[in-house]
Amino acid sequence: MSTLEVTRFAPSPSGLLHLGHAYAALFAARAAAGGRVGGRFLLRIEDIDGDRARPEFEAAIFADLAWLGLAWEEPVRRQSDHLADYAHALDALQARGLVYPCFCSRKEIAAEIARAGAAPHGPAESVYPGTCRALDAGLREARCAAGVPFALRLDMARALAEAEAENGGALTWHDRAGGRQCCDPRPQGDIVLARKDVPASYHLSVVVDDAAQDITLVTRGADLFEASHVHRLLQQLLGLPVPQYHHHRLVTDGQGQRLAKRSAALALSALREAGRSPAEVIAMSGIEEDLTP
Ligand code: GLU
Repeated sequence: MSTLEVTRFAPSPSGLLHLGHAYAALFAARAAAGGRVGGRFLLRIEDIDGDRARPEFEAAIFADLAWLGLAWEEPVRRQSDHLADYAHALDALQARGLVYPCFCSRKEIAAEIARAGAAPHGPAESVYPGTCRALDAGLREARCAAGVPFALRLDMARALAEAEAENGGALTWHDRAGGRQCCDPRPQGDIVLARKDVPASYHLSVVVDDAAQDITLVTRGADLFEASHVHRLLQQLLGLPVPQYHHHRLVTDGQGQRLAKRSAALALSALREAGRSPAEVIAMSGIEEDLTP
């Protein structure tokens, strides 16, 4: 590999890291080291959701990663220190007329989807049906003035059309596992960019952060594959560089279920307390087999 790779691990401090996080962190660190000497492995604390983020979980992230033997480059980027960057990106999208306020509650969205006949628990279940997209301007203003809480959503169809026109054709991105991808974020609908209590959604903050940290290779779980379509679109609209991607498998438990923050028994701290060594935990994660050609 000839490029100098810059990778990152970006956990949210909303729970304890488990074996799946160990896999993801090791994957990113190895991908940086696999590049030319001088590859950089960075850490980002995704604490923008102030309701869920806890300082004790952040401290545990540092302790767990150090225990695994990982060394990351300082400074660590903490999202809550960079709210102005996300606001600036949001402003840029708003100035292009690609954002609209959505006053729907979760319950109203679910009811609207049910009315439209989407299968319960089907893929369309969580896709916003666009209720507030065409809201009359006067009504919008009245609701804002009355203090009705709202989320800001991306007008997906319009955003994609503008981005493609600007690019002179379809957008593409590259996944190291799956190859060239045609960017199609439309199935995800009008995604949320910000809420009153969370000033930037995951989608918005991650593209701003990856650019700010000069990330060249985003490594992350296959569960975020679809999100990468949205990220490619936002990169185009915001004039940000486009990194490469490598979506990796998810670690599962004995029953084949993917691990969640509640999989307490496989928390790294629990494994450590149970007397497992870092080498044993690394072996348990399965990363060595996956990375051995
Ligand atoms: N914070 C995200 C998570 O914990 C990772 C985001 C990413 O890798 O883009 O799942």
